[in-house]
Amino acid sequence: MGRYRGSVCRLCRRETTKLYLKGSRCFTEKCAIDRRNTVPGQHGGVRQRLTEYSLQLREKQKLKRIYGLLEAQFRRYFSNADKMKGVTGENLLVLLESRLDNVVYRLGFALSRKQARMLVRQGHYQVNGKTVNIPSYNVALNDTVGVREKSRTLVPVREAFEKMDTRVIPDWLEVDIPQFRGLVRGRPTKEAIAIPVNEQLVVELYSR
Ligand code: SF4
Repeated sequence: MGRYRGSVCRLCRRETTKLYLKGSRCFTEKCAIDRRNTVPGQHGGVRQRLTEYSLQLREKQKLKRIYGLLEAQFRRYFSNADKMKGVTGENLLVLLESRLDNVVYRLGFALSRKQARMLVRQGHYQVNGKTVNIPSYNVALNDTVGVREKSRTLVPVREAFEKMDTRVIPDWLEVDIPQFRGLVRGRPTKEAIAIPVNEQLVVELYSR
């Protein structure tokens, strides 16, 4: 199965929620949700009663879309979360949040998760001083994530750093702007992750 190549704003409109997939555009009046918050398609304007199943499905789709994952990848995360100790839904959020592409985005080193994934694949970031080009790489406590020296002048990296003062860095991360480096100083908590998804409904969907 291939990656979704259509309009990402359409994905937000499908969920009638801002999923922040497009970087800085999401914070402007050009955001498609702010302009026209209707489900795309011929019957998009018609309000439908959602069944329990469709509510669960929509939450799963939102989570998948926020982190840009395909179904099989997402299922693997769920299966791993389910095997861990603790609350499966929270484990799932923590696993997703610990992906290298997400950490790069959260540190403000890229403007969107999609851009972060592309830049990670191209080898522009390092974990503990070593280049890692795997977006799904699991970042651990006390790891440092930095921009490779040669990549610091790249246009998308420069643009991300210019917008750093508009970003809210979660408290489980610490950023050192002059050193182009960040530190994972804690475990992401559900409160800090703060995404518009009810992860418990995702657990219920997969527990059917
Ligand atoms: Fe979603 Fe961003 Fe597009 Fe708005 S601009 S619809 S938040 S991707």
